[in-house]
Amino acid sequence: MPRPITATLHLAALTNNLQVVRRFAPSAKIWAVVKANAYGHGLQHVWRSLGENSDGFALLDLAEAVLLRESGWQGPILLLEGFFQPADLMLIDRYRLTTAVNSDWQLQAIAEARLQAPLDVYLKLNSGMNRLGFAPEQLHSAWLTAKELRNISSITLMSHFATADGAEGVTEQMAVIERATAAIDLPRCLANSAATLWHPQTQGEWVRPGVILYGASPSGNWQDIAATGLQPAMTLSSKIIGIQQLQAGDRVGYGWRYAAGGAQRIGVVACGYADGYPRHAPTGTPVWVDGVLTHTVGSVSMDMMTVDLTPCPQATIGTDVELWGRHLHVDDVAAAAGTLGYELLTALAARVPIVVEE
Ligand SMILES: *Cc1c(COP(=O)(O)O)cnc(C)c1O
Repeated sequence: MPRPITATLHLAALTNNLQVVRRFAPSAKIWAVVKANAYGHGLQHVWRSLGENSDGFALLDLAEAVLLRESGWQGPILLLEGFFQPADLMLIDRYRLTTAVNSDWQLQAIAEARLQAPLDVYLKLNSGMNRLGFAPEQLHSAWLTAKELRNISSITLMSHFATADGAEGVTEQMAVIERATAAIDLPRCLANSAATLWHPQTQGEWVRPGVILYGASPSGNWQDIAATGLQPAMTLSSKIIGIQQLQAGDRVGYGWRYAAGGAQRIGVVACGYADGYPRHAPTGTPVWVDGVLTHTVGSVSMDMMTVDLTPCPQATIGTDVELWGRHLHVDDVAAAAGTLGYELLTALAARVPIVVEE
């Protein structure tokens, strides 16, 4: 009997979520972002469902791009961070990948490469995020260089927003983009999940939604997407494998970080930080047990955690536990642990088996 923890992948939710994105961006093509092993959901499990209705897949690891191609995906694949060394161009050429270009050295490398066919490139503008991309005043000359290269067949403008999910919005960065492209006419690909949902003026020819495909909120707050029709694509579940009856003053787990205030039944759940559950989740982090909402008590340890069974007196060894999923949104667990659904989903550990629900 294996450990009872599993991550169930809801393929119907993925299909639904892509349709929701289509409704929000009816005239744009969609790069389904599947970096970080499809945000923890397993690239090899998700791509067929998403591929039925997406126009391409975006990711950043060459090995994942090759896996996707070799699994049978024949459509476009975009490398979001471009390539890391000139030698990568051999695989980009062989597997017909579209690549971001964010520096002069990359243009130089493309100019000098021996390719079977010219590349589609995404010219990346740094419009204020200050991670990757050409500075606004460098964009024009990068574009002039790129469009003269025989090794480049098409150019799309790419940029990325820092605050599309927050009060600052996209106004400042959109102004930078408009100024930098005043004399450049290129198709655009600007919008992440938050911009796709909340700033339709950014949508352009292509959008790049990630986290909403998996049914989590780009803002970290489930309420912000509750009315969209997006559905959680993953349920992380386990079971109770032990019960303790505590008396007042009894303490629990590493560091004895929790002490019972009175008689209390607690359950031991087969899930710990080595499964991807956040170790820093404090006492009080929500957990769904036996059909009701309860919470963690004490420290999360490597392979186990403890939960209050006061609201679910029928719970016993073998009772089902949902760590996050359809009843308990990953955003709510993340908020209690001081992080985002992005981090929890992508941290799902390799040792947790993924069960695909057709
Ligand atoms: C991760 C990523 C996205 C998707 O972001 P979400 O917030 O998950 O939608 C889009 N574009 C780039 C460049 C990214 O790195």
